[in-house]
Amino acid sequence: MSGIRPTGFLHLGNYFGALRNYVKMQEEYPCFFMVADLHSLTTHPDTKELKLNVQRVLSENIACGLDPDKVALYCQSHVRETSELYLYLNMMAYKGELEKTTTFKDKVRQHPDNVNAGLLTYPVLQAADIILHRASLVPVGKDQEQHLEMARNFANRFNHRYGDVFPEPQAFNYGSELVKVPSLDGTGKMSKSENQYATIYLSDTDEMIRKKVMKAKTDAGPTEPGTPMPDYIENIFMLMKLVSEADVISKFQEDYDQCRIRYGDLKKQLAEDMVRFITPVREKADAIRNDEKYLKDVMELGAEKAGKSARATMELVRQAIGLNYF
Ligand code: ADP
Repeated sequence: MSGIRPTGFLHLGNYFGALRNYVKMQEEYPCFFMVADLHSLTTHPDTKELKLNVQRVLSENIACGLDPDKVALYCQSHVRETSELYLYLNMMAYKGELEKTTTFKDKVRQHPDNVNAGLLTYPVLQAADIILHRASLVPVGKDQEQHLEMARNFANRFNHRYGDVFPEPQAFNYGSELVKVPSLDGTGKMSKSENQYATIYLSDTDEMIRKKVMKAKTDAGPTEPGTPMPDYIENIFMLMKLVSEADVISKFQEDYDQCRIRYGDLKKQLAEDMVRFITPVREKADAIRNDEKYLKDVMELGAEKAGKSARATMELVRQAIGLNYF
Protein backbone atom coordinates (compact mmCIF):
# COMPACT_ATOMS: atom_id res chain seq x y z
CA MET A 1 0.00 0.00 0.00
CA SER A 2 1.25 3.47 -0.80
CA GLY A 3 0.14 6.89 -1.97
CA ILE A 4 1.18 10.09 -3.68
CA ARG A 5 -0.25 13.55 -2.97
CA PRO A 6 -1.87 15.43 -5.89
CA THR A 7 0.21 18.54 -5.29
CA GLY A 8 1.84 18.87 -8.71
CA PHE A 9 3.50 16.91 -11.49
CA LEU A 10 5.34 13.73 -10.55
CA HIS A 11 9.11 13.74 -10.77
CA LEU A 12 12.06 11.35 -10.88
CA GLY A 13 12.06 11.12 -7.06
CA ASN A 14 8.47 9.88 -7.03
CA TYR A 15 9.33 7.41 -9.78
CA PHE A 16 12.52 5.92 -8.34
CA GLY A 17 11.48 6.21 -4.69
CA ALA A 18 7.96 4.90 -5.08
CA LEU A 19 6.42 4.15 -8.48
CA ARG A 20 9.13 1.85 -9.78
CA ASN A 21 8.41 -0.41 -6.82
CA TYR A 22 4.63 -0.20 -7.30
CA VAL A 23 4.95 -1.47 -10.85
CA LYS A 24 7.02 -4.45 -9.78
CA MET A 25 4.90 -5.23 -6.73
CA GLN A 26 1.69 -5.42 -8.73
CA GLU A 27 2.99 -8.67 -10.23
CA GLU A 28 3.65 -10.22 -6.81
CA TYR A 29 1.17 -8.92 -4.24
CA PRO A 30 -2.39 -7.67 -3.87
CA CYS A 31 -1.74 -3.91 -3.96
CA PHE A 32 -3.50 -0.69 -2.98
CA PHE A 33 -2.20 2.56 -4.45
CA MET A 34 -3.96 5.85 -3.92
CA VAL A 35 -3.93 9.50 -4.78
CA ALA A 36 -3.64 11.14 -1.35
CA ASP A 37 -6.05 14.02 -1.94
CA LEU A 38 -7.00 14.40 1.75
CA HIS A 39 -3.34 14.78 2.69
CA SER A 40 -2.94 17.56 0.15
CA LEU A 41 -5.60 19.62 1.97
CA THR A 42 -3.18 20.19 4.87
CA THR A 43 -1.01 22.50 2.77
CA HIS A 44 -3.08 23.34 -0.33
CA PRO A 45 -6.30 24.97 0.90
CA ASP A 46 -7.10 26.20 -2.64
CA THR A 47 -8.99 23.27 -4.16
CA LYS A 48 -9.84 24.75 -7.57
CA GLU A 49 -7.16 22.64 -9.25
CA LEU A 50 -7.73 19.52 -7.17
CA LYS A 51 -9.64 17.54 -9.79
CA LEU A 52 -7.07 18.32 -12.48
CA ASN A 53 -4.24 17.37 -10.15
CA VAL A 54 -5.90 14.09 -9.18
CA GLN A 55 -6.40 13.23 -12.86
CA ARG A 56 -2.79 14.12 -13.54
CA VAL A 57 -1.39 11.87 -10.80
CA LEU A 58 -3.63 9.00 -11.90
CA SER A 59 -2.51 9.37 -15.54
CA GLU A 60 1.13 9.49 -14.55
CA ASN A 61 0.76 6.40 -12.34
CA ILE A 62 -0.76 4.51 -15.25
CA ALA A 63 1.78 5.88 -17.74
CA CYS A 64 4.57 4.53 -15.52
CA GLY A 65 3.09 1.04 -15.80
CA LEU A 66 0.48 0.64 -13.06
CA ASP A 67 -2.40 -1.48 -14.26
CA PRO A 68 -5.77 -0.50 -12.69
CA ASP A 69 -7.04 -4.02 -13.38
CA LYS A 70 -4.25 -5.60 -11.35
CA VAL A 71 -4.19 -3.21 -8.38
CA ALA A 72 -6.68 -1.05 -6.51
CA LEU A 73 -5.80 2.40 -7.84
CA TYR A 74 -8.06 4.81 -6.00
CA CYS A 75 -8.62 8.22 -4.57
CA GLN A 76 -8.19 8.55 -0.80
CA SER A 77 -11.37 10.60 -0.30
CA HIS A 78 -13.47 7.91 -1.99
CA VAL A 79 -12.83 5.54 0.88
CA ARG A 80 -14.62 7.13 3.83
CA GLU A 81 -13.50 4.41 6.24
CA THR A 82 -10.05 6.06 6.20
CA SER A 83 -11.45 9.02 8.11
CA GLU A 84 -13.09 6.79 10.71
CA LEU A 85 -9.88 4.86 11.38
CA TYR A 86 -7.98 8.16 11.49
CA LEU A 87 -10.31 9.26 14.31
CA TYR A 88 -9.66 6.11 16.38
CA LEU A 89 -5.91 6.33 15.85
CA ASN A 90 -5.94 9.99 16.89
CA MET A 91 -7.01 8.84 20.37
CA MET A 92 -3.73 6.95 20.61
CA ALA A 93 -1.41 9.55 19.10
CA TYR A 94 0.30 11.90 21.50
CA LYS A 95 0.90 15.58 20.93
CA GLY A 96 4.55 15.28 21.98
CA GLU A 97 5.45 12.60 19.43
CA LEU A 98 3.57 14.36 16.65
CA GLU A 99 5.32 17.65 17.34
CA LYS A 100 8.70 15.94 17.10
CA THR A 101 8.06 14.71 13.53
CA THR A 102 10.62 16.17 11.11
CA THR A 103 8.12 16.91 8.33
CA PHE A 104 5.86 18.74 10.80
CA LYS A 105 8.74 20.87 12.05
CA ASP A 106 9.70 21.67 8.43
CA LYS A 107 6.16 22.71 7.56
CA VAL A 108 5.91 24.91 10.65
CA ARG A 109 9.09 26.66 9.54
CA GLN A 110 7.84 27.07 5.95
CA HIS A 111 4.25 28.10 6.71
CA PRO A 112 4.09 29.55 10.23
CA ASP A 113 0.64 31.00 9.46
CA ASN A 114 -0.92 27.61 8.66
CA VAL A 115 -0.03 25.24 11.50
CA ASN A 116 -3.31 23.33 11.53
CA ALA A 117 -4.21 20.17 13.43
CA GLY A 118 -4.36 18.20 10.16
CA LEU A 119 -0.71 18.99 9.60
CA LEU A 120 0.15 17.84 13.12
CA THR A 121 -1.75 14.58 12.67
CA TYR A 122 -0.55 13.96 9.09
CA PRO A 123 1.35 10.78 10.16
CA VAL A 124 -1.83 9.50 11.84
CA LEU A 125 -3.83 9.83 8.63
CA GLN A 126 -1.01 8.14 6.77
CA ALA A 127 -1.01 5.28 9.29
CA ALA A 128 -4.78 4.95 8.79
CA ASP A 129 -4.30 4.74 4.99
CA ILE A 130 -1.81 1.94 5.38
CA ILE A 131 -3.33 -0.23 8.10
CA LEU A 132 -6.83 0.19 6.66
CA HIS A 133 -5.81 -2.55 4.23
CA ARG A 134 -3.77 -4.38 6.88
CA ALA A 135 -0.80 -3.79 4.59
CA SER A 136 2.65 -4.94 5.60
CA LEU A 137 4.82 -3.57 2.77
CA VAL A 138 4.83 0.15 2.00
CA PRO A 139 6.92 1.20 -1.00
CA VAL A 140 8.19 4.73 -0.26
CA GLY A 141 11.27 6.89 -0.60
CA LYS A 142 13.72 7.55 2.20
CA ASP A 143 11.94 10.76 3.24
CA GLN A 144 9.07 8.62 4.56
CA GLU A 145 11.11 6.47 6.93
CA GLN A 146 10.05 8.33 10.07
CA HIS A 147 6.36 8.29 9.10
CA LEU A 148 6.54 4.54 8.62
CA GLU A 149 8.05 4.10 12.05
CA MET A 150 5.12 6.07 13.45
CA ALA A 151 2.62 3.94 11.50
CA ARG A 152 4.23 0.87 13.08
CA ASN A 153 3.91 2.41 16.53
CA PHE A 154 0.23 3.24 16.02
CA ALA A 155 -0.54 -0.25 14.70
CA ASN A 156 1.26 -1.87 17.64
CA ARG A 157 -0.41 0.44 20.13
CA PHE A 158 -3.82 -0.47 18.75
CA ASN A 159 -3.00 -4.18 18.92
CA HIS A 160 -1.82 -3.92 22.53
CA ARG A 161 -4.81 -1.95 23.64
CA TYR A 162 -7.59 -3.73 21.76
CA GLY A 163 -6.23 -7.04 20.45
CA ASP A 164 -4.34 -8.07 17.32
CA VAL A 165 -5.89 -6.62 14.20
CA PHE A 166 -2.95 -5.16 12.25
CA PRO A 167 0.33 -6.51 10.88
CA GLU A 168 3.39 -4.26 11.33
CA PRO A 169 3.86 -2.10 8.22
CA GLN A 170 7.43 -1.80 6.87
CA ALA A 171 8.90 0.71 4.42
CA PHE A 172 9.81 -1.24 1.32
CA ASN A 173 12.13 -0.94 -1.66
CA TYR A 174 13.31 -3.66 -4.04
CA GLY A 175 16.93 -2.56 -3.64
CA SER A 176 18.49 -2.92 -0.22
CA GLU A 177 17.97 0.68 0.89
CA LEU A 178 15.25 3.28 0.56
CA VAL A 179 15.96 5.78 -2.20
CA LYS A 180 16.44 9.53 -2.01
CA VAL A 181 16.71 11.21 -5.40
CA PRO A 182 18.69 14.43 -4.89
CA SER A 183 17.75 17.73 -6.49
CA LEU A 184 19.96 19.02 -9.32
CA ASP A 185 21.24 21.95 -7.30
CA GLY A 186 22.64 19.63 -4.66
CA THR A 187 20.43 21.01 -1.90
CA GLY A 188 17.89 18.50 -0.67
CA LYS A 189 15.63 16.20 -2.67
CA MET A 190 13.61 16.50 -5.84
CA SER A 191 10.11 17.55 -4.86
CA LYS A 192 6.73 18.34 -6.40
CA SER A 193 6.31 21.67 -4.73
CA GLU A 194 9.83 22.88 -3.88
CA ASN A 195 13.03 23.09 -5.89
CA GLN A 196 11.08 23.20 -9.17
CA TYR A 197 14.06 24.19 -11.32
CA ALA A 198 16.24 21.52 -9.75
CA THR A 199 13.60 18.80 -10.11
CA ILE A 200 13.04 16.78 -13.27
CA TYR A 201 9.32 16.15 -13.81
CA LEU A 202 7.90 13.25 -15.77
CA SER A 203 6.02 15.94 -17.74
CA ASP A 204 9.09 18.04 -18.64
CA THR A 205 9.71 18.58 -22.35
CA ASP A 206 12.99 17.35 -23.83
CA GLU A 207 14.20 20.95 -24.00
CA MET A 208 13.32 21.63 -20.38
CA ILE A 209 15.13 18.49 -19.22
CA ARG A 210 18.27 19.51 -21.13
CA LYS A 211 18.10 23.03 -19.75
CA LYS A 212 17.71 21.91 -16.13
CA VAL A 213 20.45 19.27 -16.32
CA MET A 214 22.95 21.61 -18.00
CA LYS A 215 22.40 24.10 -15.16
CA ALA A 216 23.40 21.56 -12.48
CA LYS A 217 26.28 22.78 -10.37
CA THR A 218 29.79 21.58 -11.29
CA ASP A 219 33.34 22.96 -10.94
CA ALA A 220 36.63 22.88 -12.84
CA GLY A 221 37.12 19.19 -12.05
CA PRO A 222 39.70 17.31 -9.99
CA THR A 223 43.38 18.08 -10.53
CA GLU A 224 44.91 15.29 -8.47
CA PRO A 225 43.99 11.60 -8.57
CA GLY A 226 42.20 10.48 -5.41
CA THR A 227 40.41 13.84 -4.93
CA PRO A 228 37.16 13.06 -3.08
CA MET A 229 34.04 13.81 -5.12
CA PRO A 230 32.12 16.90 -3.97
CA ASP A 231 28.45 16.25 -3.03
CA TYR A 232 27.05 17.99 -6.11
CA ILE A 233 29.16 15.84 -8.46
CA GLU A 234 28.27 12.70 -6.53
CA ASN A 235 24.61 13.67 -7.04
CA ILE A 236 25.09 13.81 -10.81
CA PHE A 237 26.59 10.33 -10.76
CA MET A 238 23.78 9.14 -8.52
CA LEU A 239 21.20 10.47 -11.03
CA MET A 240 23.09 8.79 -13.82
CA LYS A 241 22.85 5.45 -12.03
CA LEU A 242 19.08 5.76 -12.34
CA VAL A 243 18.86 6.30 -16.09
CA SER A 244 22.21 5.55 -17.79
CA GLU A 245 23.94 2.35 -18.92
CA ALA A 246 26.54 0.87 -16.55
CA ASP A 247 29.44 1.13 -19.05
CA VAL A 248 28.70 4.81 -19.67
CA ILE A 249 28.85 5.50 -15.94
CA SER A 250 32.14 3.58 -15.52
CA LYS A 251 33.68 5.56 -18.37
CA PHE A 252 32.87 8.88 -16.66
CA GLN A 253 33.98 7.51 -13.29
CA GLU A 254 37.31 6.53 -14.84
CA ASP A 255 37.61 9.98 -16.42
CA TYR A 256 37.06 11.48 -12.99
CA ASP A 257 39.68 9.22 -11.39
CA GLN A 258 42.18 10.17 -14.15
CA CYS A 259 41.36 13.89 -13.76
CA ARG A 260 40.25 14.23 -17.38
CA ILE A 261 36.50 14.44 -16.84
CA ARG A 262 34.58 17.09 -18.79
CA TYR A 263 31.49 17.97 -16.82
CA GLY A 264 29.80 19.44 -19.89
CA ASP A 265 29.92 16.00 -21.54
CA LEU A 266 28.78 14.31 -18.34
CA LYS A 267 25.71 16.53 -18.14
CA LYS A 268 24.94 16.19 -21.86
CA GLN A 269 24.97 12.41 -21.47
CA LEU A 270 22.77 12.58 -18.37
CA ALA A 271 20.31 14.89 -20.13
CA GLU A 272 20.00 12.58 -23.16
CA ASP A 273 19.51 9.52 -20.96
CA MET A 274 16.82 11.32 -18.98
CA VAL A 275 15.08 12.42 -22.17
CA ARG A 276 15.12 8.81 -23.40
CA PHE A 277 13.60 7.64 -20.13
CA ILE A 278 10.95 10.35 -19.72
CA THR A 279 9.64 10.93 -23.28
CA PRO A 280 7.52 7.74 -23.51
CA VAL A 281 6.07 8.27 -20.00
CA ARG A 282 5.17 11.91 -20.78
CA GLU A 283 3.53 11.00 -24.07
CA LYS A 284 1.49 8.20 -22.52
CA ALA A 285 0.38 10.37 -19.57
CA ASP A 286 -0.65 13.16 -21.97
CA ALA A 287 -2.84 10.74 -23.88
CA ILE A 288 -4.56 9.48 -20.72
CA ARG A 289 -4.98 12.81 -18.91
CA ASN A 290 -7.77 14.13 -21.08
CA ASP A 291 -9.78 10.92 -21.15
CA GLU A 292 -12.30 11.83 -18.43
CA LYS A 293 -14.44 8.77 -18.99
CA TYR A 294 -11.53 6.36 -18.65
CA LEU A 295 -10.23 8.07 -15.51
CA LYS A 296 -13.70 8.02 -13.96
CA ASP A 297 -13.92 4.28 -14.61
CA VAL A 298 -10.47 3.78 -13.07
CA MET A 299 -11.47 5.71 -9.93
CA GLU A 300 -14.77 3.85 -9.59
CA LEU A 301 -13.14 0.46 -9.92
CA GLY A 302 -10.40 1.47 -7.47
CA ALA A 303 -12.90 2.79 -4.92
CA GLU A 304 -14.87 -0.45 -5.14
CA LYS A 305 -11.80 -2.63 -4.50
CA ALA A 306 -10.37 -0.42 -1.76
CA GLY A 307 -13.81 0.02 -0.16
CA LYS A 308 -14.28 -3.73 0.11
CA SER A 309 -10.96 -4.18 1.87
CA ALA A 310 -11.61 -1.17 4.12
CA ARG A 311 -15.05 -2.36 5.20
CA ALA A 312 -13.66 -5.77 6.19
CA THR A 313 -10.95 -4.17 8.34
CA MET A 314 -13.35 -1.71 9.98
CA GLU A 315 -15.63 -4.56 11.09
CA LEU A 316 -12.66 -6.02 12.98
CA VAL A 317 -11.63 -2.61 14.32
CA ARG A 318 -15.08 -1.74 15.70
CA GLN A 319 -15.39 -5.16 17.27
CA ALA A 320 -11.92 -4.96 18.82
CA ILE A 321 -12.64 -1.52 20.31
CA GLY A 322 -16.03 -2.63 21.60
CA LEU A 323 -18.17 -0.46 19.38
CA ASN A 324 -20.58 -3.29 18.61
CA TYR A 325 -23.66 -2.88 20.78
CA PHE A 326 -26.11 -5.13 18.95
P1 ADP B 1 6.55 15.12 -2.90
O1 ADP B 1 7.51 15.11 -1.73
O2 ADP B 1 7.25 15.32 -4.20
O3 ADP B 1 5.36 16.03 -2.72
P2 ADP B 1 4.94 12.92 -1.97
O4 ADP B 1 5.10 13.47 -0.59
O5 ADP B 1 3.56 12.90 -2.56
O6 ADP B 1 5.94 13.65 -2.97
O7 ADP B 1 5.56 11.47 -1.99
C1 ADP B 1 5.17 10.44 -2.87
C2 ADP B 1 6.19 9.32 -2.84
O8 ADP B 1 7.37 9.74 -3.53
C3 ADP B 1 6.65 8.92 -1.42
O9 ADP B 1 6.81 7.53 -1.39
C4 ADP B 1 7.99 9.61 -1.28
O10 ADP B 1 8.85 8.93 -0.39
C5 ADP B 1 8.52 9.54 -2.70
N1 ADP B 1 9.47 10.63 -2.98
C6 ADP B 1 9.20 11.94 -3.08
N2 ADP B 1 10.32 12.65 -3.36
C7 ADP B 1 11.34 11.73 -3.44
C8 ADP B 1 12.74 11.82 -3.73
N3 ADP B 1 13.32 12.97 -4.05
N4 ADP B 1 13.46 10.67 -3.73
C9 ADP B 1 12.88 9.47 -3.45
N5 ADP B 1 11.56 9.32 -3.19
C10 ADP B 1 10.80 10.43 -3.18
